[in-house]
Amino acid sequence: MASRVSEVAVVGAGYVGLVTGASLARIGHRVTCVDEDGDRVAWLREGKMPFYEPGLEEMVARGTGAGRLSFTEDLDAAVGRADVAFVAVGTPQGDDGAADLTNVSAVARGIGRALARSGRRARPLVVANKSTVPVGSGDYVSALVREGAEEAGDAGAAGEARFGVASNPEFLREGSAVYDSLFPDRIVVGAEEAWVVEAMRALYAPVIEQNFPVEMDPRPSVTVPFVVTDLASAEMIKYAANAFLATKVSFVNEISDLCELTGADVGSVATGIGLDGRIGPRFLNAGIGWGGSCLPKDVSALRAVAREHRHDTKLLDAAVAVNERRRDLAVSKLRDGLATLEGRRVALLGLAFKPNTDDLREAPSLGIAAELLSLGAEVVGYDPVAAKAAAHEAPGLRAVFDPYEALAGAHAAVVVTEWEEVRNLDLRRAASLMREPKLLVDGRNAFAPDDARGAGLLYRGFGRG
Ligand code: NAD
Repeated sequence: MASRVSEVAVVGAGYVGLVTGASLARIGHRVTCVDEDGDRVAWLREGKMPFYEPGLEEMVARGTGAGRLSFTEDLDAAVGRADVAFVAVGTPQGDDGAADLTNVSAVARGIGRALARSGRRARPLVVANKSTVPVGSGDYVSALVREGAEEAGDAGAAGEARFGVASNPEFLREGSAVYDSLFPDRIVVGAEEAWVVEAMRALYAPVIEQNFPVEMDPRPSVTVPFVVTDLASAEMIKYAANAFLATKVSFVNEISDLCELTGADVGSVATGIGLDGRIGPRFLNAGIGWGGSCLPKDVSALRAVAREHRHDTKLLDAAVAVNERRRDLAVSKLRDGLATLEGRRVALLGLAFKPNTDDLREAPSLGIAAELLSLGAEVVGYDPVAAKAAAHEAPGLRAVFDPYEALAGAHAAVVVTEWEEVRNLDLRRAASLMREPKLLVDGRNAFAPDDARGAGLLYRGFGRG
């Protein structure tokens, strides 16, 4: 059965919005991505990607080529014709640790104004929030859309029939975002009205049923669970998922410290516990801890919500404290191996917060570089895509695009991000280029200790006995 084609507006053409827009076009909808950044829109119109994400350029080209995907700064026009308008703008961490809703508020008001100006009466609009926002934001967005409509002189726009709000949290992972958006583990929709849920179910039908032309093999599942909740629960699901993942990594890092003290190997322990179906094997990699654009800010926002309710988050506080120690641990492993950092050259291998992205938000590399520079070390960073941006973010860091250039003359190297290019390093060549003591601090336990030692490196992993 052919599925219904929807007109979609996606506001915010960032990692989430652009991938969402391109994947909705991929499954047959007509999508307009709206961004306030004129340069970004101009780039996208020329087929250039504003950030690095594997497979995205091809998916965008396919959408624009088929006439199903376009880019604009004009919110009014996009919302005027939309059945569903996604809010996919940034919700960065504010000074108080809480989520900063400035962008979401501006877009919600703008959607209200656009709705009023469009003068449409018959077709209702779903405002679907993909930005990660605290519980209660759905009602807040609803109020702002209404306010926007009233500002534009259309008090009638406040009528319930004209729009409904859904929370549709996003779980894609940078680095595999295209795959995740077409083959998600689940789709979560929170809403208070049945018609809103049904509109979202219809929009996602090709993904839910895995019924769209696809070249990717293997197809991971026959159907994708569509989880329907109230607004508040959907908003909480996103925070709870990220808080759980962060806690899981901090947990294995605490076990990693105990492995170091007792002579156990955290890799074997992770394998042994991860095969228990109740635990699962993922997010059990010990090392320098979690960072990135989501986990730190989302855990912080959840703790801020708890503070507002005068509730203690002992477990989350501990997860954060354990994580903060990881970077210090990397630096102390360097200091132990080098005696001093003053005047020593350290190569950071991988700068983006994880492989296959150029995203540097809360990247561990930046904190480690700043600490090493403050201790008098010379720091050279390698990353296949994020080197230039990292040099800008961390003044004093010399960034290069060739790992061996970073290693040449270095007294020590730290594996910060386990890119394939880092995992596949020729360790003998690395050792031949480095200066004594040729220390390798393996922040992701990416190498077999024996291989590294056999190549002539002084190897220090995390939790490896
Ligand atoms: P991003 O910074 O990459 O993109 C945000 C985009 O929104 C930018 O292009 C910006 O120009 C645009 N924008 C901001 N204000 C605007 C406005 N008023 N009108 C039009 N455009 C506007 O952000 P992101 O990483 O895509 O994150 C978006 C949201 O999704 C956040 O809430 C984030 O927590 C959540 N999220 C992110 C990820 C991820 O991996 N990046 C995963 C899941 C959820």
